[in-house]
Amino acid sequence: MRAFYSGQFVLPLPPGHRFPMSRYALLRDRLLEHLPAVDMDQAPRATDGELALAHTPQWIAAISDGSVSPQAMREIGFPWSEAMVERSRRSTGATIAACRAAFAGGVAANMAGGTHHAYADKGGGFCVFNDAAVAARLMQAEHGRGGRQLKVAVIDLDVHQGNGTASIFRSDPSVFTLSLHGQKNFPFRKEASDLDVELPDGCGDADYLTALEHALDELDRRFSPGLVIYLAGADPFERDRLGRLKLTFDGLEARDRRVFDWAWQRRVPLAFAMAGGYASDIAETVQVQLGTFKVAFDYWRRWQNAAR
Ligand SMILES: [Zn+2]
Repeated sequence: MRAFYSGQFVLPLPPGHRFPMSRYALLRDRLLEHLPAVDMDQAPRATDGELALAHTPQWIAAISDGSVSPQAMREIGFPWSEAMVERSRRSTGATIAACRAAFAGGVAANMAGGTHHAYADKGGGFCVFNDAAVAARLMQAEHGRGGRQLKVAVIDLDVHQGNGTASIFRSDPSVFTLSLHGQKNFPFRKEASDLDVELPDGCGDADYLTALEHALDELDRRFSPGLVIYLAGADPFERDRLGRLKLTFDGLEARDRRVFDWAWQRRVPLAFAMAGGYASDIAETVQVQLGTFKVAFDYWRRWQNAAR
């Protein structure tokens, strides 16, 4: 199973910054240790032309040349740096590469990404470019043959609403945006996804999994994707500092299994990205992510066995 990383591009952050930059290197170490069969490659850099499939030329230029306003950078929450530009392009490139690898092998990963708070013309909440939106549009360009458009479902289970993704695809019926998120959590002004499921503070495994089941049933009734992009956020975890939900390790594994199984049953290729994760002990966030990779690897193997 192929996975793409951009974690070597570490942002220079002030001491005490709440973004857990160390978790990317930690995930890489854990995968090498526990899932050595995962084939890890450096992510390619998304080009201006690729980014322009989901972003305005003004936004791409402002981020790239550093002319972006201090106010716009405050909304993102990182200081501007060359490393930030490089990392954002690589992280978007990783989801592009993961989508292509998913078409070849059924399941593939971006070891970062899931930057769903980025709009066409602005960033927000640690997100500069919207990797899933860029990748969805690029896959449509690469796979739209004979007048048939590739339909893409973005299944966003990060605990925060995928507001940027919802906004970018608001009037695009070829991409279905599904977001399960904390009702009272960031972003406080939410956008309308094709399907939004709002969960109360403190929501536990059983209620969450029931809500997910209903959401996937509704997705099934309304849409038939040729590609799934899954944002497997680790932040619904019970000890996440920003999550406000109460999912256990087992609950999150059941969540992942449900999504991978949904795609597998329909033989739809699935690319997944990490999105958020902010446990006080960052090793616990990485433990959730490793769990996602173990489930993903199980379904990747099914694809390979079926192809024989
Ligand atoms: Zn999040």
